[in-house]
Amino acid sequence: MKYHIDTIPVWDAYHQESECPLCILYSSLEKSYIESFLGASVMESDTRIQVNRSGFCPHHFKLLYDAQNRLGLALMTHTHLKELMEKFENHCKSVLHAAEHSNASLMSNLFIGKKEFGKDLEKFQNWITEQHGQCLICEHISNSMNRYAYTILHLYYTDAEFKKTFASSKGFCMDHLALTIKIARETLSPKKQALWLEEVIPLQLNSFSRLENELSLFINKFDYRKRDEPLGSAKDSLQRTIQKLTGKYMD
Ligand SMILES: [Zn+2]
Ligand SMILES: [Zn+2]
Repeated sequence: MKYHIDTIPVWDAYHQESECPLCILYSSLEKSYIESFLGASVMESDTRIQVNRSGFCPHHFKLLYDAQNRLGLALMTHTHLKELMEKFENHCKSVLHAAEHSNASLMSNLFIGKKEFGKDLEKFQNWITEQHGQCLICEHISNSMNRYAYTILHLYYTDAEFKKTFASSKGFCMDHLALTIKIARETLSPKKQALWLEEVIPLQLNSFSRLENELSLFINKFDYRKRDEPLGSAKDSLQRTIQKLTGKYMD
């Protein structure tokens, strides 16, 4: 897989010194896609065709809904619904046909009839699940996130200044650690993958133990005997720990 590099946003994210620079990039991509889907691109025919096909996941539908361009969202949702209805009706026809066939063959061959209908019903269920899992915003974000993860690896191996910045960073959240490992496996030689891992793992381990200490300080603060002790950086340790564990950037 060939990815393009995009260094400026990556550097900007690293300068924020967060628990995970990829979470920052994810969050800003999400904001800009929500704005663009409700802005000019609502009317672009390419976008409309893609939205009609995929729709959005529950999370992104909610963000679009909260963004208050109800007309733009209603237009997109309306045409998506029409396209989904058409596909749904076709799938219904074939599963109902299989059901009918299964009833008929119950008379003659109970086992075969049931087995074939079972397969059709499973196909129907999988199709519905597949429709539900599609999201154009997730798709766009995922492509850009692959590119950013690749850019981090590229800078790490080509830019000494970045290597230093990376070494003093806090690693990644678990979700984006998995993403960088996936991109490293796709694009780096085994030797470079191993070197990368040797650099990343200590960052992650240090990060976890720092968060564990901070969170413990945060919890102690609820003990009235310790309530006057200074919290310092532990103040937002709960948000940062959740981010580290889940990739959910609590900004
Ligand atoms: Zn992250
Ligand atoms: Zn989505």
